[in-house]
Amino acid sequence: MGMAKPKPMTIRQFFAIYPDDDVCLDHVMRARYGERHICDRCKKSAHYYRIKARQAYECEYCGLHLYPCVGTPFHKSRTPLQYWFFAMYLFCASRNGVAAKELQRQLGVTYKCAFRMGHKIREFMAEADGNAPLGGLGNIVEADETFIGGKDKLGEDDKHIVIGAVERGGEVQTDVVPDRRGMTVLPKLRRMLVPGARVVTDDNAIYDALPTNGYPHASVNHSKGEYVRGPIHTNTIEAFWAQLKRGINGTYIHVSQKHLDKYLGEFEYRFNLRKQPYVMFEILLWAFRRPSLVPSRV
Ligand SMILES: [Zn+2]
Repeated sequence: MGMAKPKPMTIRQFFAIYPDDDVCLDHVMRARYGERHICDRCKKSAHYYRIKARQAYECEYCGLHLYPCVGTPFHKSRTPLQYWFFAMYLFCASRNGVAAKELQRQLGVTYKCAFRMGHKIREFMAEADGNAPLGGLGNIVEADETFIGGKDKLGEDDKHIVIGAVERGGEVQTDVVPDRRGMTVLPKLRRMLVPGARVVTDDNAIYDALPTNGYPHASVNHSKGEYVRGPIHTNTIEAFWAQLKRGINGTYIHVSQKHLDKYLGEFEYRFNLRKQPYVMFEILLWAFRRPSLVPSRV
């Protein structure tokens, strides 16, 4: 018998594991510093004790204070830490995103607070996701561009152009571009690829310069009704666009150019972990930057 496939955390499990703010803070402390770590001041391998009523811990030897939330999305937030954890849980449990209205309703916070939390979490998801170049080991990369959005609140045309590249069986990367000219799109695309990556696109002329830039290139002729020629197709990136549009059009309704890259980061994160949805929340909970990259004194 094979092992049962692990399942994503249920809401009941979430509240059993993270019953209050103190447990959440202990988690952040452990995730970033471990059970013991070398104290910045006394240089001993120290355990840190929680300081009551503050989001801080102190060194058992010299009393140096540590604030584990510095450099995390929760730093300087007056929203309870457990709300942040639950909001991150909701972002991982959903397929199509979590609107600020929904966060406001679920957490009982103001709309403004929910809106800010959502963006902080999206940025954090993008950071946790990273952007490793695509197309190593000869894997095929599908590249494509699409329009996101429609009319703004005043009925004006408000479409944004997004380019994306996805490695078959691997990760997706996207970026917002101001226009669809080759000289705009290609440099952005190159930043997503390993040198010499094999790229499949549709027959749009913007990709014609790929071979002269060192990227073997094949295309399907969408304008002549050709969509699949053996391994030559763009079905994977099209599937990502479909997911992104379901989320943006269905959940978020209107996304401004200013915030579009944050939404892209959120959908990339979920897509890139699509085969292991049960680790989506777990990875986010351990993705805090290493404390050495964050100023140690507040
Ligand atoms: Zn110390």
